[in-house]
Amino acid sequence: MDKITSEYRLPKSIVPVNYDVILKLDADAFTTNNFQGEVNITLNVLKRTDQILIHSKNLDIISVNLRKPNENFNLTHRSYMSDALTDILTITSENQLSPGFYYLDITYNATFNPYDMHGFYKSTYPNEEGKTEFLATTQFEVTNARRAFPCFDEPSFKATFNLSVVYPKGYNVIANTLQNGNVNVTSENLEIVNFKTTPRMSTYLNAFVISNFTCDTVETKLPFRVCSRAEAANERKYALDISPKLMNYLENFTGIPYNVSGIGKMDQVAIPDFSAGAMENWGLITYRESTLLWDPNESSNLYKQRVASVIAHEFAHMWFGNLVTLKWWSDVYLSEGFARYFQYFATDRIETEWEMDKQFVVEQVHSALFTDSFSASEALSSPVTTPKEISSKFDLISYNKGTHRNHN
Ligand SMILES: [Zn+2]
Repeated sequence: MDKITSEYRLPKSIVPVNYDVILKLDADAFTTNNFQGEVNITLNVLKRTDQILIHSKNLDIISVNLRKPNENFNLTHRSYMSDALTDILTITSENQLSPGFYYLDITYNATFNPYDMHGFYKSTYPNEEGKTEFLATTQFEVTNARRAFPCFDEPSFKATFNLSVVYPKGYNVIANTLQNGNVNVTSENLEIVNFKTTPRMSTYLNAFVISNFTCDTVETKLPFRVCSRAEAANERKYALDISPKLMNYLENFTGIPYNVSGIGKMDQVAIPDFSAGAMENWGLITYRESTLLWDPNESSNLYKQRVASVIAHEFAHMWFGNLVTLKWWSDVYLSEGFARYFQYFATDRIETEWEMDKQFVVEQVHSALFTDSFSASEALSSPVTTPKEISSKFDLISYNKGTHRNHN
């Protein structure tokens, strides 16, 4: 049964300012598939209310606490179950909350998403000796950050994030920002790592990868790293070579340095099991292996083009989507259209012999006209509300016609 559309949206009367997120994976997390989480959210209540609405999906909420410095608020305990359709958890205070800053603390248990490669999920791959290796990674766009921690999971609710991860020894953690201080040992089998505060950003751009991947680094103005399974180490060089060049082109084109946000680095990670082609998480772009890694001895030139153009697409999102973000998903053609445009035209400036400008006309303009010729084809901008409808906006028409329109 569908709800009326307004019920899927969070009210604007409370906005998140900062999240401290602590994720805890026990030493046997990759066997049990369980993790625990704790989120402390600084909220700005703009209008008097007794309710806080927040997204949470498949999280087993243990405790909820609302406080101000030196003041606790009694919450009416019904159950901490979020609505099955809207994913909204409603927290009710016994007293009205007057405007001002509050702290909302939530603890919960959860499992790695077993259904698909969205939210926080576990993946496996065989190493050189055929032994199974584990990793845990994320894919939050469009509405899946809520599966990793309770949050205001709409793009307009930008906030800063401080992430800490407790994880089994022998693994390492990569996140949006640089590590803050050293890794510390918390017990015989566990370590903890803290990350620097992110720029103000939307929830869907958070990412973290817990793995035993290795990385290659090139230091330009910022550290660029390309990370993968250790076995694929000899396939990282092309991505590492072209990345600073593409970034430099986009910085010159926009006139805005990538690090204007203070993100501090650019990590690109090849994930063996990944549903999208790539995902533009700020400072930590995740890719399918085939869109980041290129083996000069085994892979064709077509794959090399794909690596360059997908990196260009994701880098363009650092400006178009991450720094400047659409208020709502109905206009996603704008950020996807710009990214698709630079996918061709930034690559064309670096790899001049590929004639990417001519390929653009054949691959993008013609296919947009073709897709648009179907009566079922949607307008570029159209209202969407439910998670399913939002996902449907990431279609050919948003990418191809969007890029053609931005080109004109
Ligand atoms: Zn994109």
